[in-house]
Amino acid sequence: MFLRIDRLQIEIPAAKEPDPNAAAALQELLGGRFGEMSTLMNYIYQSFNFRARSSLKPFYDLVANIATEELGHIELIAAAINSLLTGSTKPAPPDKKPLEPGKNARNTHHFIATAQTALVGDSMGAPWRGDYVFSSGNLKLDLLHNFFLECGARLQKIRVYEMSDNPVVREAVGYLLVRGSVHATAYAKALELVTGVNVAKMLPIPDISNKEFPEARKWEEKGIHRTLYRFSPNDYRDIALIWRGTAPTGDGELVVVDGPPEGGPIPELPEIPEEFAPGVPKDVVEDIMRRLKGK
Ligand code: MN
Ligand code: MN
Repeated sequence: MFLRIDRLQIEIPAAKEPDPNAAAALQELLGGRFGEMSTLMNYIYQSFNFRARSSLKPFYDLVANIATEELGHIELIAAAINSLLTGSTKPAPPDKKPLEPGKNARNTHHFIATAQTALVGDSMGAPWRGDYVFSSGNLKLDLLHNFFLECGARLQKIRVYEMSDNPVVREAVGYLLVRGSVHATAYAKALELVTGVNVAKMLPIPDISNKEFPEARKWEEKGIHRTLYRFSPNDYRDIALIWRGTAPTGDGELVVVDGPPEGGPIPELPEIPEEFAPGVPKDVVEDIMRRLKGK
């Protein structure tokens, strides 16, 4: 089961200007084949379906624990998309076509379907698919798949980074580059334990250091690239049997931190009257609150 903390894993800035096309590009990192929906659902189903858990507990703990972090990554990318969409339109009566800015935006679903918020789809608007999930039951193959998935995700993050210098895009992608590299390294270490092959020697894929990206470098300077968070009050402790030793980046020891990152606030999304969202008039809200408080 899951506990939930009403915070983002990092603070996402408010966009200075709405940038709906940057939001559309970021959708690939949420609902594309290599997006956060895919990393979450792959690891979570592998954890549900894990066989011989008691004898292979460190690997079960690793997959289950990283899945939980990925749940927070969806939340983070959605917040970045929402930030970029905020302010795209202005309130006006329907006959003044207040949603016209959405007509020529890259993803019209953001304006027609979701009231200017994230959707469960990719940068082309195609829905995320369950057949992106690979859960074969073979430990070596599933770990190899997860390593590949993190590397594919890293390539696509870098390409989205190269599309936009919007600070919202770069803040989210910079952090997720660092966390994705942690996961790729963790799966490489797990594969080495199972096979004896030094898979981490293949990293980074693609062949460019996170230090080339200022928004990733700032997290690495804090040691976040050497940190695996344990997202549970008491469980998944055996991740420390895999996540230990010298970091492949050669700048310190790998550490397990008990508990989530400090994180940042969940931004408040303003009302959008022209989208009828949330569509509850002020006097009705006041009346609801009066009734809830029994007055
Ligand atoms: Mn992720
Ligand atoms: Mn990941």
